[in-house]
Amino acid sequence: MSNEKVIQILQDHGIKPSYQRIKIYEYLINEKNHPTADMIYRELAPGIPTLSKTTVYNTLKLFNSVDVVQKIMIEENEVRFDADMNKHGHFKCLGCGDIYDFPIKSTAIDYGMPEGFELKDEHIYCTGYCSECSSLQEKTS
Ligand SMILES: [Zn+2]
Ligand SMILES: [Zn+2]
Repeated sequence: MSNEKVIQILQDHGIKPSYQRIKIYEYLINEKNHPTADMIYRELAPGIPTLSKTTVYNTLKLFNSVDVVQKIMIEENEVRFDADMNKHGHFKCLGCGDIYDFPIKSTAIDYGMPEGFELKDEHIYCTGYCSECSSLQEKTS
């Protein structure tokens, strides 16, 4: 994604596109690896000496508050981030620990919400083994 496009997206959401914010968004959209805040900090800090962990955390919080990124809480003890706001599910491989995207084919899931409840946000999280890890398992067992 081009620099101009990134700036456009941030501005469209009312975010002042500072250098650090652009870099953090670019990382998320290009890597698509559903990183934690710490991962983003570790990857970007060598190239941006002025970057602090607090800046990364605050930037992600800001991005999330205006729906530029979504939080993925597939793990109780860590929050991951995703700049892909299209509806998709997340699959965590119990072998390699990677988080994969998968499309959600049904457009309407019948949740059976109680009367008067308003659904704001929905996440589909699955765990299991990715194709590589499941073929490794077959070979070793
Ligand atoms: Zn795997
Ligand atoms: Zn995703």
